[in-house]
Amino acid sequence: MNDFFKAEELLNTTRDLVRIPSPSGFTDEVISWVEGRMQELNVPTYRNNKGGLIATIEGNDSSKHRMLTAHVDTLGAMVKEIKSDGRLRLSLIGGFRFNAIEGEYCEIITSSGKRYTGTILLHQTSVHVYKNNGDVKRDEQNMEVRLDERVFSVDDVEKLGIHVGDFTAFDPRVKLTESGFIKSRHLDDKASVALLLANIKKIKEENIKLPYTTHFLISNNEEIGYGGNSNIPDETVEYIAVDMGALGDGQTSDEHTVSICAKDSSGPYHYRLRKHLVGLAEEYNIAYKLDIYPYYGSDASAAIRAGADVRHALIGPGIDASHAYERTHQDSMLHTANLIYNYLQSSMID
Ligand SMILES: [Zn+2]
Repeated sequence: MNDFFKAEELLNTTRDLVRIPSPSGFTDEVISWVEGRMQELNVPTYRNNKGGLIATIEGNDSSKHRMLTAHVDTLGAMVKEIKSDGRLRLSLIGGFRFNAIEGEYCEIITSSGKRYTGTILLHQTSVHVYKNNGDVKRDEQNMEVRLDERVFSVDDVEKLGIHVGDFTAFDPRVKLTESGFIKSRHLDDKASVALLLANIKKIKEENIKLPYTTHFLISNNEEIGYGGNSNIPDETVEYIAVDMGALGDGQTSDEHTVSICAKDSSGPYHYRLRKHLVGLAEEYNIAYKLDIYPYYGSDASAAIRAGADVRHALIGPGIDASHAYERTHQDSMLHTANLIYNYLQSSMID
């Protein structure tokens, strides 16, 4: 494996990214941040109408293109209802359950841009009052936001400028450990955005000429199913989603290797392109795991579903406890960065 990607840099970029609130539907700020990094590297970009960012690096061959995508949008919620006691009900954005956010700090972002902090709690949290609260279902009815404000009524909350439809972002609680782990919410998929940025930086700094014109799509609607399904130039032959590998019982993926997906709920990924990625991993001593994700779809499968005639693949760092308080190790980041690097400079499969 090449040693020129620095773990510290990959983890720091990831940390910067997870700290910018960006539930699906509220991604302008994080897209601007990524756009700023691209500008520093003199990479031309444009924004599509739905707010995603596309960066393009010209290659030797402009008749066949590649596209790589990673998404900056995250799980989140919206204020569904203001309760008569001044607590807030939430409507979730993305695929997860309330138990994954019980006790989490959050921020309510009003339409005028004001931000208020709160905590997501079960209504019946106090064991001194509610005897069997372990049995209460964690759902939209029973979970609520306790605002850190003196509010006792709907009126009090509305006076703050908080209304139904306001976005709610979860505190990522990002932490880097001495042992090389990064623990945080939203590593899916900001860790991968950091990996694309590191690769683009490498290419620009070293004046590496890519074999094919390559587009990098920073998608902003993946968690709700349609982030990377548009703005794919007709010349695009290969389309790679860089997104997390899923860990759990029966999974091969782990926090120390790059996961290469053979199949997810959408079906098999392109067989020869998958084998090409495995071949590159073996050639360059990149530790990888081939895996199947039982409940998963990616921006690459979304592109196929939308009608894109591309060869699609899915690779990414292994993320533990996905869509909850996640974790990965710098090794997984480094192996994934290296696979992307070698892929970008490889010849296309026939
Ligand atoms: Zn993802």
